[in-house]
Amino acid sequence: MNVATILKQKGRAVATASPSTTLLDIANKLAAKRIGAMVIVGAGGEVAGIVSERDIIRMLGSDGPQCLTRPVSESMTRAVVSCQESDTLEEIMSMMTARRFRHLPVVEDGALVGIISIGDVVKHHIAEVEMEATAMREYITHS
Ligand code: AMP
Repeated sequence: MNVATILKQKGRAVATASPSTTLLDIANKLAAKRIGAMVIVGAGGEVAGIVSERDIIRMLGSDGPQCLTRPVSESMTRAVVSCQESDTLEEIMSMMTARRFRHLPVVEDGALVGIISIGDVVKHHIAEVEMEATAMREYITHS
C-alpha cells in the first residue's frame, strides 16, 4: 500500500492557513475541524510551515496566553518534511517514528496534494495486517 491508495480513500482536502493567521485562529480552526495540525502556505501556495497542537501548547507554556495574538509564522515549524504519493505505508511509518511527528503533507511537483496523519497510518496498517492474517488462515486451512 502507498500514499496514493490512502489518499484515494480519505480524499485530498488539506486544512491550510496563511503565515499571518493568529495562533488563536489556528487553535479555533483545529478545534472546529477536529484535527491536530495545519499546513501553513505562502502567497504562492507553497508550503511555508506546519503547526500542530503541540506547538501551541509549547508556546502557551513558554510565553503565556499573549502568544495567541501573534502570527503563526512565529511558532510554526519551517523545515517541513513531506512525502510523495509513491511512498509506501512502511516508509511513512518509519519517517513519522524516526522524526517523532504525526503529520506528513503530501507534495507532488511542489504542489500540496494531501496530508497523512498518524491516524491514517495506523488505520491502514491494521487493515493490512488483518488482510495478511486472513490470507494466512485461508492458506493453512486449505493446504
Ligand atoms: P505532531 O506530532 O505532528 O503534533 O508534531 C510535533 C512537532 O513536529 C511540532 O513541532 C510540529 O510543528 C512538527 N511537525 C509535525 N509534522 C511535521 C512535518 N511533516 N515536518 C516537520 N515538522 C513537523
